[in-house]
Amino acid sequence: MQGGWVGTHPERGHRLRGTLPPTGDGPVRKTHVLIVGSGIAGLACARALTQRGVDDLALLDLEDQAGGNSRGHTLGGLPCPLGAHYLPLPGAQAREVNELLHDLGLARQHLGRTEWDERHLCHSPQERLFIDGQWHEGLLPPAETPSALAQYRRFSQLVDDAQRNMGFAMPSRRAPWTAYHDALDGQTFATMLDNDGLDAPRLRWYLDYCCRDDFGADAATVSAWAGLHYFASRHGFHAPGDETAEREPVLTWPEGNGWLAARIAAPLRDCIHLGRTVLRVSEGRHGVDVVAWNEATQAPERWVARAVVMATPLFISARLLASPPEALRGLTQPHAPWLTANLQLREPLLQRPGAPPAWDNVRYGSMALGYVDARHQALDPTPRAPLLTAYVALPEAQRGALLSQPWQHWARVVMDDLAGTHPDLPAKVERIDLCRFGHAMSIPVPGLRGSPALAALNDTRGRVVFAHSDLAGYSVFEEAYTAGRLASQRLSL
Ligand SMILES: Cc1cc2nc3c(=O)[nH]c(=O)nc-3n(C[C@H](O)[C@H](O)[C@H](O)COP(=O)(O)OP(=O)(O)OC[C@H]3O[C@@H](n4cnc5c(N)ncnc54)[C@H](O)[C@@H]3O)c2cc1C
Repeated sequence: MQGGWVGTHPERGHRLRGTLPPTGDGPVRKTHVLIVGSGIAGLACARALTQRGVDDLALLDLEDQAGGNSRGHTLGGLPCPLGAHYLPLPGAQAREVNELLHDLGLARQHLGRTEWDERHLCHSPQERLFIDGQWHEGLLPPAETPSALAQYRRFSQLVDDAQRNMGFAMPSRRAPWTAYHDALDGQTFATMLDNDGLDAPRLRWYLDYCCRDDFGADAATVSAWAGLHYFASRHGFHAPGDETAEREPVLTWPEGNGWLAARIAAPLRDCIHLGRTVLRVSEGRHGVDVVAWNEATQAPERWVARAVVMATPLFISARLLASPPEALRGLTQPHAPWLTANLQLREPLLQRPGAPPAWDNVRYGSMALGYVDARHQALDPTPRAPLLTAYVALPEAQRGALLSQPWQHWARVVMDDLAGTHPDLPAKVERIDLCRFGHAMSIPVPGLRGSPALAALNDTRGRVVFAHSDLAGYSVFEEAYTAGRLASQRLSL
């Protein structure tokens, strides 16, 4: 079997750990606005600035491709995701995201309604779960007993009440924040569920799975605010047999959200400087000095900007800034390590009984998050062997092993897990490309979302501002994109 690490360069980010290299006296490059990081937040900020006529921009990113956690990859000539792979249809509160999707031609207004381009809505069947020796449609496990079913219904009612009485929104900054939200933020989701007597094992497995899938950590780690927000800000929770339940439509592409990142980045291509690891950002009297390491020439680069947007994870911004604000120094924000694996297969997999292959395929009880099929959304009807993308959110304690163990070790971990549903898979893998994200996404632990430090960083104005999904306390496209757009308005130009 062939394979290897792709997509990220941990050694580049880890330059920040040691003594910084000498900056030299080379030429200084000037720009009006410099954006550190070309993830979705950095790209959104650049897009907003150019729309306002600010064209003298530079985006610096340490990787060789823009898009951060939302990049695509190619394996065997076919597109597949490296990280983020879908976007639920946005609600009315996601104004900025709606505007983007209309601009990209994914949506249009017709007779007062939004119509979506069917080619980019996830094709059917969307999801299936392997449980009790067969595949079931959807990811919610069937309830094991009538009393378990009653718990599913009680949780559904709890989410409905939260939606109606408290207010949840996507992006989360558009929802109110009250003493009740604060109380939820002060406890773990698992504690809340225990106190409500919601202990049916299959329900708890599903809620745990949802938390690991969206937040990179389980219900015992994330806050009750985060656990409820997952359902109440979007599609709700529908107990089995709920007649009103509809399939949650999502936008997805063979290369995942890399499709979106590439389209936002395309008009900015002249401003994007890749393979530039920013090492230092110092605010002076007349401008902001930035030192970056050029990974191609292995030499430092000096920049001076009128204003700088820190579109990097907040713990990185804290290291980069010569004088970080008090709120940044006081912030403790854990990040979940993630691993993704793209598997090119020689031939189709044998199928177990039950629901047919879907876009998203998950095994009940698995420590991993299942796999999506990059070919599912392809419009080209030519039959080809499958290309699967497997997702694993790891406990923080395994970050060291993610860095130190060879790719073959992690390939085995992924394949052993997938063999639980497809015993024939290991023998059919032609190539496996693994991508590791040591600090993939903020975990919304109790106390983080409602912390004064996060509120202060969301409101920072001046010549250095912050733009990253970390500002929401957790990471999804809508939070990143909105954070980037709003940062452009807080910048003193
Ligand atoms: C495996 C995985 C799957 C996901 N799936 C989904 C999904 O399906 N849907 C969804 O909505 N969200 C998903 N997410 C969440 C995803 O993080 C967000 O959607 C979004 O991409 C975050 O964008 P961002 O700009 O906030 O952050 P990032 O993507 O973290 O961008 C930060 C950028 O800063 C750069 N950078 C860091 N340090 C430096 C430095 N010193 N110098 C220069 N550049 C630097 C990084 O290289 C990166 O490009 C997923 C995340 C992961 C990891």
